[in-house]
Amino acid sequence: MKQLTPERLLDVAYDEALRGLAEGGIPIGAALFDADGTLLGRGHNRRVQSGDPSMHAETDAFRAAGRRRDYRGTVMVTTLSPCWYCSGLVRQFGIGAVVVGESQTFSGGHKWLAGHGVAVTVLEDRRCIDLMSRFIAEHPALWHEDIGSADDLEA
Ligand SMILES: [Zn+2]
Repeated sequence: MKQLTPERLLDVAYDEALRGLAEGGIPIGAALFDADGTLLGRGHNRRVQSGDPSMHAETDAFRAAGRRRDYRGTVMVTTLSPCWYCSGLVRQFGIGAVVVGESQTFSGGHKWLAGHGVAVTVLEDRRCIDLMSRFIAEHPALWHEDIGSADDLEA
C-alpha cells in the first residue's frame, strides 16, 4: 500500500495544471488514482491546445486511464471544482471519491456529487486558488468560454 494524502494526490493534478498553463491553455489539471494511490491517468484541460471544448482536465485524465470494469475504488483529483459535465462523468462511471483543489473561483457539481454518495474532499488549496484567480483575471473571455457562460461577459 502506498496510501497517499489528498494533498499529495493534488500535487499531481496541480502539476498538470501548470503544464496546461505552459502550453498556453487553461490551467486546470486532474488525475485518476486507484484506491491504493496508484496513478491510473493524468491530464489537463486542452480546449485551447486541441481546439476541443470537451477536453476538460478530468476527461483527459479519465481517457488516459484507459478501460476499467469498476471505478468504485477510484479517486478523481482535480485542481478545480468539477463542472456539470465532469461531475456527470464521475456519476456515470461510479467513481467513488473526488478530491477538489479549490471551489473558490468556480463552484461546479461537487456538492451534488456528495449528495449522491461520492466521497468529496475540498482542500481549498492556496496554490490552486492563486493559479485560477490569476488566469481568470488575465483571460476573462477564455475562461467564460470554458465554463459555457459567454453571455456573462455582456453583464
Ligand atoms: Zn469539466
